[in-house]
Amino acid sequence: MTSSSRNEAIAARAEKVIPGGHLSPNRKLGRPVVFTDASGPYLHDADGQRYSDYHCAFGANVLGHKHPAVVAAVKAVSDEIDLVGAGMLELEVEVAERLVAAIPCAEQVSFCSSGSEATYHALRLARAVTGGRHIVKFQGGYHGWHDYVAMNGQSSRQMLGSYDPMSDGMLYDAARYTKIVPYNDAGAVEAFIKQNPGDVAAVIIEPIAHNMGAVAAHLTFLQDLRRITREHGVVLIFDEVITGFRHALGGYQSLIDVTPDLATFGKAATSGYPIGIVAGRRDMMERLGRTGEGAVFMGGTFNGTPASMAAVKATLDELAKPGAYERLFELGDYLRTGIDAIIARRGIRAQAAGFGSVWLVYFFQGAFNEYRDLLDNDTELDMRFRRALIDERHVFQPAPLKRLYLSMSHRREIVDDTLDRIDTIMARLAAPAAA
Ligand code: PLP
Repeated sequence: MTSSSRNEAIAARAEKVIPGGHLSPNRKLGRPVVFTDASGPYLHDADGQRYSDYHCAFGANVLGHKHPAVVAAVKAVSDEIDLVGAGMLELEVEVAERLVAAIPCAEQVSFCSSGSEATYHALRLARAVTGGRHIVKFQGGYHGWHDYVAMNGQSSRQMLGSYDPMSDGMLYDAARYTKIVPYNDAGAVEAFIKQNPGDVAAVIIEPIAHNMGAVAAHLTFLQDLRRITREHGVVLIFDEVITGFRHALGGYQSLIDVTPDLATFGKAATSGYPIGIVAGRRDMMERLGRTGEGAVFMGGTFNGTPASMAAVKATLDELAKPGAYERLFELGDYLRTGIDAIIARRGIRAQAAGFGSVWLVYFFQGAFNEYRDLLDNDTELDMRFRRALIDERHVFQPAPLKRLYLSMSHRREIVDDTLDRIDTIMARLAAPAAA
């Protein structure tokens, strides 16, 4: 980049007034990039360069940027009303009715502004209805930034089995009731619940572990979790903040016929506006509507903000159109098949992984059922691959094991172009001289 780069000039200003120059270290691309516009699968930066977006706003953007139906809905509602924060809006009732109709566990729903808020509220509700203190979380999973769950994400081998907080400043007293167990291990969950009779409030799980890329839950594992939690009076929470709306209108639960007690949603529900959703059984959810004894407090100034509600409605309308999910899944399969063919041709120890429109490349071969299996990932190759694709103006996080996305706006041509670039990069990675 030249000294006249606007990207660099704005980044220099950012460094002075924003910690690290970015709203979180997870937004860094390894070089200063200031985005100035977004449309469908493409982004442009302040120096006029075009990028293909496989980050899709951490997965929120399922339709593609600035989808005309979402933009129109947000504009229309903004002409009528903005945040009121008292009484109710018919729009929020309509959205709730749509969600209750679509999501198997949802007898009632309530809204907040992010996925982290949704998981916080679901866990508080579970503690209230059970009286238990402990919650069970899986190694490698992510459920947001709050102290109950912000631990044991991408842990090092040495930290497996230990408390591994994601941040300084976390209160151990808030985290110590969170038990970490391996994904796909129902026996470990059952043993813990049996060791703490009547004191386990919830098991919280991503039904596909996308925070480790794409580790699938065995169907029998989810069925076992359902049976065990029911037998012991523990609340089963599916965290569908990634899987919800991205893989099916009714969440992943609608594809597998395992219905949790509560579920949390966010991200793709609006295709780009702030949202969190708690959904679940009426007898539990109604505690959020009580005052006085037994009340569970779920507040938030911006909850149900009209722009977000309008965006949910427009997004659901688009996703409900015939063939929408078929197209997303076909494109994901096409990309993964293409990557696997390249890997085979270039002789790299790697494999394409993913589900539907979520994808990534693992740099190891063999089965993976839980986080420990992913420690075989060749981090150096993974990072070289990611940096090379970012150099080719593809947008996503330069961090190992992080998932990438497709949106409804991606077409075969853009995927074919990406596959060509992946082929060139893999050829370089395979060449001994490139070591
Ligand atoms: N749950 C899951 C499964 C997530 O992947 C995330 C974010 O990536 C969250 C919760 C937190 O959502 P938010 O970033 O909207 O707070």
